[in-house]
Amino acid sequence: MPTTEQRVVQQLKQLVAEPSVSSPDPQWDTSNRGVIEKLAGFTDELGFKVAVQPLQPGPGGKANLIARLGPEAPSNEQSGGLVLSGHTDTVPFDEGRWQSDPLALVERDGGLFGLGSTDMKGFFPVALAAIAELDLHELHAPLYLLATADEESTMRGARELPVDALKGASAAIIGEPTNLQPIRLHKGIMMQGVRLSGRSGHSSDPSLGRNVIDVVPALLTLFDRYRAELAQEFRCELLAVPTPTINFGCLHGGDSPNRICGELDFSFDVRMLPGLAYQDIETALNQRLTALASAHGIDIEMRRLVEPVPAFEQAEDSAAVIAAEAVTGCAAGAVNFATEAPFLQRLGLETIVLGPGSIDVAHQPDEYMPMDQLRPAIDVIKQLIAHHCL
Ligand SMILES: [Zn+2]
Repeated sequence: MPTTEQRVVQQLKQLVAEPSVSSPDPQWDTSNRGVIEKLAGFTDELGFKVAVQPLQPGPGGKANLIARLGPEAPSNEQSGGLVLSGHTDTVPFDEGRWQSDPLALVERDGGLFGLGSTDMKGFFPVALAAIAELDLHELHAPLYLLATADEESTMRGARELPVDALKGASAAIIGEPTNLQPIRLHKGIMMQGVRLSGRSGHSSDPSLGRNVIDVVPALLTLFDRYRAELAQEFRCELLAVPTPTINFGCLHGGDSPNRICGELDFSFDVRMLPGLAYQDIETALNQRLTALASAHGIDIEMRRLVEPVPAFEQAEDSAAVIAAEAVTGCAAGAVNFATEAPFLQRLGLETIVLGPGSIDVAHQPDEYMPMDQLRPAIDVIKQLIAHHCL
């Protein structure tokens, strides 16, 4: 019989070996079905009722896995069930910069090295080990294992979960790497493109066109003012950068010094705090950009470059946060990265982010899961399952 840690390593090896890259670049983008099939096998062995939710038609399309153990609804009104959630995909990788094959998990220097080992395929075998060590005949509320697609690109898997997919559960743990600190808050992200359209013409006579580069100083002033207003209004001391930010990412326009510049593209991102909705930002900026356009006799259009991820906050006095703080002995905090938490919360689940490993080694060569976090992580998950479902 393999030990619990050996079983975790064996399962993680199988999950890492299944490529599941998400990327807006179709040359990189890969189906996650291999990982879903492995997880379907692992959960089936433990007695879960397993459902696969296809996001695209056809056998190679991406999918979520929704596996349930225990009753459909809690047997007592006091407490609901639990969702253990992770994403199955990874970011693209630069194989030449890895010390070993990124898809072949290896153990060295106290770590398990492989693509997605900590972000976040490693959470699944840890969660399954916790489940295997408990006596689950006594489950009075449903325990779900949820595995999503496309977290690293569009978050489509979490966005497209059916409203009743996790019924009977009242809390969720997303096992992103937090070094086992419970996380109850993060910023949201939106990325927008702006196109300024004037009219090109011969540079020798400015009246022949409308030069949009002349409007750039006013455009930057508009954004600077808005940024300062947001910083005045929104602040959260849990975060290392406590105010919303707006970053100008790129600016492209024009083609020749002797032509009036007729078109210019500009893009930026906003990192929103809880309480600041992306719809409100779009409305405020659209109003100001429309006024700027008419003052300068040009057209300005703003569009979403990607679907926004809302900011996330789980109240500090909610039951799931209090339970996670008690089990880990660690005050709930905030992180600088976005997760699927707002989408699970939208389904009515009290949500926290809590998992083994460190985000500092994710999305880069030689990503690893520290071996000495496996046992503590299994114990934390066991206690949280016991709290919510037993
Ligand atoms: Zn992740």
